[in-house]
Amino acid sequence: MIARRHSRSVKVGSVTIGSSAPIVVQSMTNTDTADVEATVAQVALLARAGSEIVRVTVNNEAAAAAVPRIRERLDAQGIAVPLVGDFHFNGHRLLKAHPACAEALSKLRINPGNVGRGSKRDPQFAEMIEVACRYGKPVRIGVNWGSLDQDLLTRMMDENSRQATPRAALDVMREAIVVSALTSAERAEALGLPGDRIVISAKVSGVQDLIVVYRMLAKRCDYPLHLGLTEAGMGSKGIVASTAGIGVLLQDGIGDTIRVSLTPEPGGDRSQEVIVAQEILQTMGLRAFTPMVVACPGCGRTTSTYFQELAQKIQSHLRHRMPQWRKERVGVEDMTVAVMGCVVNGPGESKHANIGISLPGTGEVPVAPVYEDGEKTVTLKGQRIAEEFQDLVERYVERRFARKTG
Ligand code: SF4
Repeated sequence: MIARRHSRSVKVGSVTIGSSAPIVVQSMTNTDTADVEATVAQVALLARAGSEIVRVTVNNEAAAAAVPRIRERLDAQGIAVPLVGDFHFNGHRLLKAHPACAEALSKLRINPGNVGRGSKRDPQFAEMIEVACRYGKPVRIGVNWGSLDQDLLTRMMDENSRQATPRAALDVMREAIVVSALTSAERAEALGLPGDRIVISAKVSGVQDLIVVYRMLAKRCDYPLHLGLTEAGMGSKGIVASTAGIGVLLQDGIGDTIRVSLTPEPGGDRSQEVIVAQEILQTMGLRAFTPMVVACPGCGRTTSTYFQELAQKIQSHLRHRMPQWRKERVGVEDMTVAVMGCVVNGPGESKHANIGISLPGTGEVPVAPVYEDGEKTVTLKGQRIAEEFQDLVERYVERRFARKTG
Protein backbone atom coordinates (compact mmCIF):
# COMPACT_ATOMS: atom_id res chain seq x y z
CA MET A 1 0.00 0.00 0.00
CA ILE A 2 1.46 3.37 -1.02
CA ALA A 3 1.25 6.08 1.67
CA ARG A 4 -0.01 9.24 -0.02
CA ARG A 5 1.55 12.57 0.87
CA HIS A 6 -0.80 14.74 2.90
CA SER A 7 -2.45 17.48 0.85
CA ARG A 8 -5.45 19.72 1.17
CA SER A 9 -8.51 18.81 -0.82
CA VAL A 10 -9.77 21.08 -3.58
CA LYS A 11 -13.22 20.87 -5.20
CA VAL A 12 -13.27 21.20 -8.98
CA GLY A 13 -16.95 21.10 -9.92
CA SER A 14 -18.16 17.73 -8.67
CA VAL A 15 -14.63 16.27 -8.49
CA THR A 16 -12.35 16.37 -5.42
CA ILE A 17 -8.59 16.62 -5.90
CA GLY A 18 -6.18 15.86 -3.07
CA SER A 19 -6.30 14.56 0.48
CA SER A 20 -7.69 11.01 0.44
CA ALA A 21 -9.65 11.42 -2.81
CA PRO A 22 -8.77 8.98 -5.58
CA ILE A 23 -6.04 10.26 -7.93
CA VAL A 24 -7.89 12.10 -10.68
CA VAL A 25 -7.34 11.55 -14.41
CA GLN A 26 -7.30 14.68 -16.54
CA SER A 27 -6.92 15.39 -20.24
CA MET A 28 -6.93 18.32 -22.63
CA THR A 29 -8.65 18.95 -25.94
CA ASN A 30 -6.74 19.85 -29.10
CA THR A 31 -9.68 21.33 -30.99
CA ASP A 32 -10.12 25.04 -31.64
CA THR A 33 -12.23 25.97 -28.60
CA ALA A 34 -14.13 28.47 -30.74
CA ASP A 35 -15.41 25.49 -32.74
CA VAL A 36 -18.17 24.54 -30.31
CA GLU A 37 -19.27 21.40 -32.11
CA ALA A 38 -15.78 19.92 -32.45
CA THR A 39 -14.85 20.79 -28.86
CA VAL A 40 -18.07 19.35 -27.41
CA ALA A 41 -17.47 16.17 -29.40
CA GLN A 42 -13.91 15.83 -28.15
CA VAL A 43 -14.74 16.63 -24.52
CA ALA A 44 -17.48 13.98 -24.75
CA LEU A 45 -14.98 11.49 -26.20
CA LEU A 46 -12.46 12.19 -23.43
CA ALA A 47 -15.11 12.04 -20.71
CA ARG A 48 -16.50 8.75 -22.03
CA ALA A 49 -12.97 7.34 -22.07
CA GLY A 50 -12.78 8.19 -18.36
CA SER A 51 -11.28 11.68 -18.16
CA GLU A 52 -12.62 13.15 -14.92
CA ILE A 53 -11.62 16.74 -15.71
CA VAL A 54 -11.04 18.20 -19.20
CA ARG A 55 -9.01 21.32 -19.96
CA VAL A 56 -9.68 23.53 -22.96
CA THR A 57 -7.52 26.35 -24.21
CA VAL A 58 -9.04 29.82 -23.89
CA ASN A 59 -6.74 31.81 -26.09
CA ASN A 60 -8.92 34.49 -27.71
CA GLU A 61 -12.31 36.25 -27.67
CA ALA A 62 -14.00 33.59 -29.79
CA ALA A 63 -12.78 30.79 -27.50
CA ALA A 64 -13.91 32.66 -24.36
CA ALA A 65 -17.33 33.29 -25.92
CA ALA A 66 -17.62 29.62 -26.89
CA VAL A 67 -16.96 28.20 -23.40
CA PRO A 68 -20.48 28.80 -21.95
CA ARG A 69 -22.04 27.28 -25.09
CA ILE A 70 -19.76 24.25 -24.79
CA ARG A 71 -20.80 23.83 -21.15
CA GLU A 72 -24.50 24.09 -22.06
CA ARG A 73 -24.21 21.54 -24.83
CA LEU A 74 -22.35 19.11 -22.59
CA ASP A 75 -24.94 19.52 -19.83
CA ALA A 76 -27.71 18.89 -22.35
CA GLN A 77 -26.00 15.59 -23.21
CA GLY A 78 -25.70 14.68 -19.53
CA ILE A 79 -21.91 15.06 -19.56
CA ALA A 80 -21.05 16.73 -16.27
CA VAL A 81 -17.25 16.57 -16.60
CA PRO A 82 -15.72 19.77 -15.13
CA LEU A 83 -14.04 22.08 -17.67
CA VAL A 84 -10.82 23.91 -16.92
CA GLY A 85 -9.82 27.01 -18.88
CA ASP A 86 -6.17 27.27 -19.90
CA PHE A 87 -5.12 30.93 -19.91
CA HIS A 88 -1.92 32.57 -21.12
CA PHE A 89 -0.92 36.17 -21.95
CA ASN A 90 -4.45 37.63 -22.29
CA GLY A 91 -6.38 35.63 -19.66
CA HIS A 92 -7.00 38.70 -17.50
CA ARG A 93 -8.67 40.52 -20.41
CA LEU A 94 -10.67 37.53 -21.60
CA LEU A 95 -12.02 36.73 -18.15
CA LYS A 96 -13.02 40.35 -17.57
CA ALA A 97 -14.74 40.65 -20.94
CA HIS A 98 -16.46 37.24 -20.70
CA PRO A 99 -17.84 36.69 -17.21
CA ALA A 100 -20.01 33.85 -18.53
CA CYS A 101 -16.80 32.05 -19.49
CA ALA A 102 -15.48 32.36 -15.94
CA GLU A 103 -18.81 31.10 -14.59
CA ALA A 104 -18.96 28.11 -16.93
CA LEU A 105 -15.46 26.92 -16.02
CA SER A 106 -14.83 24.78 -12.96
CA LYS A 107 -11.18 25.82 -12.62
CA LEU A 108 -8.78 28.35 -14.10
CA ARG A 109 -5.26 27.32 -15.07
CA ILE A 110 -2.85 30.22 -14.77
CA ASN A 111 0.74 29.97 -15.98
CA PRO A 112 2.71 32.48 -13.88
CA GLY A 113 5.37 32.69 -16.61
CA ASN A 114 2.79 33.84 -19.15
CA VAL A 115 0.65 36.37 -17.29
CA GLY A 116 2.61 39.39 -18.46
CA ARG A 117 6.09 40.83 -18.46
CA GLY A 118 7.72 43.35 -16.11
CA SER A 119 5.37 45.77 -14.40
CA LYS A 120 2.30 44.21 -16.07
CA ARG A 121 2.80 40.77 -14.57
CA ASP A 122 1.60 41.37 -11.03
CA PRO A 123 -1.54 43.38 -11.82
CA GLN A 124 -2.57 40.94 -14.55
CA PHE A 125 -2.05 37.98 -12.24
CA ALA A 126 -4.10 39.83 -9.60
CA GLU A 127 -6.94 40.44 -12.07
CA MET A 128 -7.20 36.72 -12.79
CA ILE A 129 -7.13 35.80 -9.12
CA GLU A 130 -9.85 38.40 -8.46
CA VAL A 131 -12.03 36.70 -11.08
CA ALA A 132 -11.41 33.32 -9.44
CA CYS A 133 -12.39 34.81 -6.04
CA ARG A 134 -15.48 36.52 -7.45
CA TYR A 135 -16.83 33.33 -9.05
CA GLY A 136 -15.62 30.94 -6.35
CA LYS A 137 -13.35 29.04 -8.72
CA PRO A 138 -10.23 27.08 -7.87
CA VAL A 139 -7.01 27.85 -9.69
CA ARG A 140 -4.19 25.67 -10.88
CA ILE A 141 -0.91 27.51 -10.72
CA GLY A 142 0.64 25.73 -13.67
CA VAL A 143 4.33 26.43 -14.13
CA ASN A 144 5.94 25.08 -17.27
CA TRP A 145 9.68 25.15 -17.77
CA GLY A 146 9.19 26.19 -21.40
CA SER A 147 7.57 29.40 -20.21
CA LEU A 148 9.27 29.85 -16.87
CA ASP A 149 9.17 33.40 -15.49
CA GLN A 150 12.34 34.77 -17.11
CA ASP A 151 12.73 37.68 -14.67
CA LEU A 152 12.74 35.23 -11.77
CA LEU A 153 15.13 32.83 -13.49
CA THR A 154 17.56 35.61 -14.42
CA ARG A 155 17.49 36.97 -10.87
CA MET A 156 18.15 33.54 -9.37
CA MET A 157 20.92 32.79 -11.87
CA ASP A 158 22.56 36.14 -11.06
CA GLU A 159 22.32 35.53 -7.33
CA ASN A 160 23.78 32.06 -7.81
CA SER A 161 26.72 33.35 -9.85
CA ARG A 162 27.63 35.68 -6.99
CA GLN A 163 27.95 32.78 -4.55
CA ALA A 164 31.40 31.51 -3.53
CA THR A 165 30.45 28.04 -4.76
CA PRO A 166 27.69 28.48 -7.34
CA ARG A 167 25.27 25.61 -7.93
CA ALA A 168 24.89 23.97 -11.33
CA ALA A 169 22.62 25.93 -13.67
CA LEU A 170 20.24 22.94 -13.89
CA ASP A 171 19.76 22.97 -10.10
CA VAL A 172 19.01 26.69 -10.16
CA MET A 173 16.51 26.20 -12.97
CA ARG A 174 14.74 23.42 -11.04
CA GLU A 175 14.68 25.61 -7.93
CA ALA A 176 13.28 28.52 -9.99
CA ILE A 177 10.38 26.34 -11.18
CA VAL A 178 9.50 25.47 -7.59
CA VAL A 179 9.91 29.07 -6.40
CA SER A 180 7.73 30.35 -9.27
CA ALA A 181 4.94 27.93 -8.31
CA LEU A 182 5.09 28.54 -4.57
CA THR A 183 5.47 32.32 -4.64
CA SER A 184 2.57 32.55 -7.11
CA ALA A 185 0.42 30.43 -4.80
CA GLU A 186 1.40 32.63 -1.86
CA ARG A 187 0.47 35.74 -3.84
CA ALA A 188 -2.85 34.21 -4.81
CA GLU A 189 -3.61 33.54 -1.14
CA ALA A 190 -2.52 37.08 -0.21
CA LEU A 191 -4.96 38.34 -2.86
CA GLY A 192 -7.79 36.47 -1.14
CA LEU A 193 -7.92 33.09 -2.88
CA PRO A 194 -8.40 30.46 -0.15
CA GLY A 195 -5.60 27.89 0.08
CA ASP A 196 -8.08 25.09 -0.47
CA ARG A 197 -8.75 26.45 -3.94
CA ILE A 198 -5.19 26.08 -5.20
CA VAL A 199 -3.63 23.20 -7.10
CA ILE A 200 -0.04 23.30 -8.29
CA SER A 201 1.74 21.81 -11.26
CA ALA A 202 5.31 22.27 -12.44
CA LYS A 203 5.72 20.54 -15.74
CA VAL A 204 9.04 19.81 -17.34
CA SER A 205 9.93 17.54 -20.25
CA GLY A 206 12.74 15.52 -18.63
CA VAL A 207 11.93 12.60 -16.36
CA GLN A 208 14.72 13.30 -13.84
CA ASP A 209 13.80 17.00 -13.71
CA LEU A 210 10.17 16.07 -13.09
CA ILE A 211 11.04 13.79 -10.19
CA VAL A 212 13.37 16.30 -8.53
CA VAL A 213 10.99 19.25 -8.95
CA TYR A 214 7.93 17.43 -7.59
CA ARG A 215 9.84 15.98 -4.65
CA MET A 216 10.81 19.54 -3.72
CA LEU A 217 7.24 20.76 -4.12
CA ALA A 218 5.89 17.88 -2.05
CA LYS A 219 8.23 18.78 0.81
CA ARG A 220 7.49 22.48 0.76
CA CYS A 221 3.72 22.73 0.44
CA ASP A 222 0.48 20.90 1.05
CA TYR A 223 -1.36 22.06 -2.06
CA PRO A 224 -2.60 19.17 -4.20
CA LEU A 225 -0.14 18.42 -7.01
CA HIS A 226 -1.08 17.81 -10.63
CA LEU A 227 1.53 15.53 -12.24
CA GLY A 228 2.49 15.32 -15.84
CA LEU A 229 5.46 15.41 -18.12
CA THR A 230 5.07 18.22 -20.61
CA GLU A 231 5.81 17.57 -24.28
CA ALA A 232 6.16 13.86 -23.50
CA GLY A 233 6.21 13.05 -27.20
CA MET A 234 4.61 10.57 -29.56
CA GLY A 235 3.86 6.89 -29.38
CA SER A 236 5.88 4.61 -27.13
CA LYS A 237 8.39 7.36 -26.20
CA GLY A 238 5.64 9.58 -24.81
CA ILE A 239 4.02 6.71 -22.94
CA VAL A 240 7.29 5.39 -21.50
CA ALA A 241 8.62 8.80 -20.46
CA SER A 242 5.33 9.77 -18.80
CA THR A 243 5.01 6.43 -17.06
CA ALA A 244 8.59 6.52 -15.81
CA GLY A 245 8.25 10.01 -14.32
CA ILE A 246 4.71 9.79 -13.01
CA GLY A 247 5.22 6.23 -11.76
CA VAL A 248 8.23 7.08 -9.59
CA LEU A 249 6.39 10.02 -8.03
CA LEU A 250 3.19 8.08 -7.42
CA GLN A 251 5.26 5.39 -5.73
CA ASP A 252 6.59 8.14 -3.43
CA GLY A 253 2.98 9.02 -2.60
CA ILE A 254 3.25 12.26 -4.60
CA GLY A 255 0.49 13.31 -7.00
CA ASP A 256 -3.22 13.97 -6.61
CA THR A 257 -4.16 14.22 -10.26
CA ILE A 258 -2.35 13.23 -13.46
CA ARG A 259 -2.32 13.98 -17.14
CA VAL A 260 -0.36 12.11 -19.80
CA SER A 261 0.52 14.68 -22.47
CA LEU A 262 0.86 12.53 -25.57
CA THR A 263 1.28 13.95 -29.04
CA PRO A 264 -1.34 12.05 -31.04
CA GLU A 265 -0.37 10.40 -34.32
CA PRO A 266 -1.97 12.26 -37.26
CA GLY A 267 -5.63 11.22 -37.19
CA GLY A 268 -4.98 9.35 -33.92
CA ASP A 269 -7.41 9.00 -31.06
CA ARG A 270 -7.12 11.77 -28.47
CA SER A 271 -8.56 9.52 -25.79
CA GLN A 272 -5.36 7.44 -25.78
CA GLU A 273 -3.91 9.81 -23.19
CA VAL A 274 -6.81 8.99 -20.87
CA ILE A 275 -6.35 5.26 -21.31
CA VAL A 276 -2.62 5.50 -20.59
CA ALA A 277 -3.26 7.59 -17.46
CA GLN A 278 -5.80 5.03 -16.24
CA GLU A 279 -3.42 2.18 -16.99
CA ILE A 280 -0.62 3.85 -15.02
CA LEU A 281 -2.90 4.12 -11.98
CA GLN A 282 -4.40 0.68 -12.41
CA THR A 283 -1.18 -1.24 -13.01
CA MET A 284 0.28 0.44 -9.91
CA GLY A 285 -2.69 -0.75 -7.89
CA LEU A 286 -3.84 2.80 -7.11
CA ARG A 287 -7.20 2.71 -8.87
CA ALA A 288 -9.25 0.28 -10.94
CA PHE A 289 -11.01 1.48 -14.08
CA THR A 290 -11.53 -1.44 -16.39
CA PRO A 291 -10.91 -5.19 -16.37
CA MET A 292 -7.27 -5.92 -17.15
CA VAL A 293 -6.11 -8.41 -19.73
CA VAL A 294 -3.04 -10.37 -18.74
CA ALA A 295 -1.45 -11.62 -21.94
CA CYS A 296 1.85 -13.37 -22.41
CA PRO A 297 4.32 -11.80 -24.86
CA GLY A 298 4.36 -14.89 -27.08
CA CYS A 299 7.53 -16.69 -28.17
CA GLY A 300 8.69 -19.42 -30.53
CA ARG A 301 5.97 -21.68 -29.12
CA THR A 302 3.27 -19.50 -30.72
CA THR A 303 4.15 -18.99 -34.35
CA SER A 304 0.69 -17.74 -35.31
CA THR A 305 -0.74 -14.35 -34.36
CA TYR A 306 -3.94 -16.00 -33.19
CA PHE A 307 -3.46 -15.39 -29.50
CA GLN A 308 -2.34 -11.77 -30.07
CA GLU A 309 -5.53 -11.18 -32.02
CA LEU A 310 -7.59 -12.83 -29.32
CA ALA A 311 -5.94 -10.74 -26.59
CA GLN A 312 -6.63 -7.59 -28.61
CA LYS A 313 -10.24 -8.60 -29.27
CA ILE A 314 -10.85 -9.33 -25.61
CA GLN A 315 -9.24 -6.04 -24.50
CA SER A 316 -11.40 -4.06 -26.96
CA HIS A 317 -14.50 -5.99 -25.93
CA LEU A 318 -13.87 -5.23 -22.24
CA ARG A 319 -13.34 -1.52 -22.93
CA HIS A 320 -16.45 -1.44 -25.09
CA ARG A 321 -18.60 -3.17 -22.46
CA MET A 322 -17.18 -1.34 -19.45
CA PRO A 323 -19.39 1.80 -19.54
CA GLN A 324 -22.48 -0.42 -19.31
CA TRP A 325 -20.98 -2.83 -16.80
CA ARG A 326 -19.84 0.08 -14.63
CA LYS A 327 -23.46 1.23 -14.38
CA GLU A 328 -24.81 -2.24 -13.70
CA ARG A 329 -22.21 -4.34 -11.86
CA VAL A 330 -20.38 -3.93 -8.56
CA GLY A 331 -16.57 -4.31 -8.72
CA VAL A 332 -16.28 -5.43 -12.34
CA GLU A 333 -13.38 -2.99 -12.88
CA ASP A 334 -11.23 -5.23 -10.66
CA MET A 335 -11.65 -8.27 -12.93
CA THR A 336 -8.57 -9.79 -14.59
CA VAL A 337 -8.76 -11.82 -17.79
CA ALA A 338 -5.79 -13.92 -18.92
CA VAL A 339 -5.09 -14.74 -22.55
CA MET A 340 -2.06 -17.03 -22.74
CA GLY A 341 -0.21 -18.46 -25.70
CA CYS A 342 0.64 -22.02 -24.66
CA VAL A 343 0.72 -24.67 -21.99
CA VAL A 344 4.00 -23.47 -20.37
CA ASN A 345 2.54 -20.61 -18.32
CA GLY A 346 -1.01 -20.65 -19.71
CA PRO A 347 -2.83 -22.77 -17.15
CA GLY A 348 -0.95 -21.21 -14.21
CA GLU A 349 -1.58 -17.61 -15.23
CA SER A 350 -5.17 -18.39 -16.24
CA LYS A 351 -5.84 -19.89 -12.82
CA HIS A 352 -4.69 -16.66 -11.13
CA ALA A 353 -7.07 -14.56 -13.23
CA ASN A 354 -10.82 -14.33 -12.70
CA ILE A 355 -11.24 -15.96 -16.07
CA GLY A 356 -8.48 -17.11 -18.41
CA ILE A 357 -7.84 -19.08 -21.53
CA SER A 358 -4.73 -21.05 -22.40
CA LEU A 359 -4.44 -21.32 -26.17
CA PRO A 360 -2.67 -24.16 -27.92
CA GLY A 361 0.97 -23.47 -28.82
CA THR A 362 2.59 -24.82 -31.96
CA GLY A 363 2.40 -28.62 -32.01
CA GLU A 364 -0.01 -28.79 -29.04
CA VAL A 365 -3.44 -30.41 -29.29
CA PRO A 366 -5.68 -27.63 -30.78
CA VAL A 367 -7.81 -27.13 -27.70
CA ALA A 368 -8.06 -24.19 -25.30
CA PRO A 369 -8.91 -24.85 -21.66
CA VAL A 370 -10.76 -22.06 -19.86
CA TYR A 371 -10.33 -21.42 -16.14
CA GLU A 372 -12.80 -19.55 -13.96
CA ASP A 373 -11.80 -18.62 -10.41
CA GLY A 374 -8.90 -21.08 -10.60
CA GLU A 375 -10.91 -24.07 -11.83
CA LYS A 376 -10.95 -25.50 -15.34
CA THR A 377 -14.55 -25.19 -16.50
CA VAL A 378 -14.58 -25.93 -20.20
CA THR A 379 -12.30 -26.65 -23.13
CA LEU A 380 -12.89 -24.73 -26.35
CA LYS A 381 -11.95 -25.93 -29.81
CA GLY A 382 -12.67 -25.14 -33.46
CA GLN A 383 -12.93 -21.88 -35.36
CA ARG A 384 -15.05 -19.89 -32.90
CA ILE A 385 -12.79 -19.93 -29.82
CA ALA A 386 -12.67 -16.10 -29.67
CA GLU A 387 -16.44 -15.63 -29.83
CA GLU A 388 -17.12 -18.46 -27.39
CA PHE A 389 -14.58 -17.10 -24.91
CA GLN A 390 -16.15 -13.65 -25.19
CA ASP A 391 -19.55 -15.20 -24.36
CA LEU A 392 -18.00 -16.96 -21.37
CA VAL A 393 -16.60 -13.62 -20.12
CA GLU A 394 -20.07 -12.07 -20.46
CA ARG A 395 -21.66 -14.88 -18.48
CA TYR A 396 -18.89 -14.76 -15.89
CA VAL A 397 -19.54 -11.04 -15.31
CA GLU A 398 -23.26 -11.66 -14.91
CA ARG A 399 -22.67 -14.46 -12.43
CA ARG A 400 -19.72 -13.08 -10.47
CA PHE A 401 -20.46 -9.35 -10.09
CA ALA A 402 -23.68 -8.42 -8.32
CA ARG A 403 -26.16 -6.12 -9.99
CA LYS A 404 -26.13 -2.60 -8.57
CA THR A 405 -29.24 -1.54 -6.78
CA GLY A 406 -30.88 1.87 -6.72
S1 SF4 B 1 2.97 -18.82 -22.18
FE1 SF4 B 1 3.85 -20.07 -23.83
S2 SF4 B 1 3.64 -18.81 -25.65
FE2 SF4 B 1 3.39 -17.45 -23.94
S3 SF4 B 1 5.45 -16.63 -23.63
FE3 SF4 B 1 5.19 -18.35 -22.23
S4 SF4 B 1 6.04 -20.09 -23.32
FE4 SF4 B 1 5.70 -18.48 -24.86
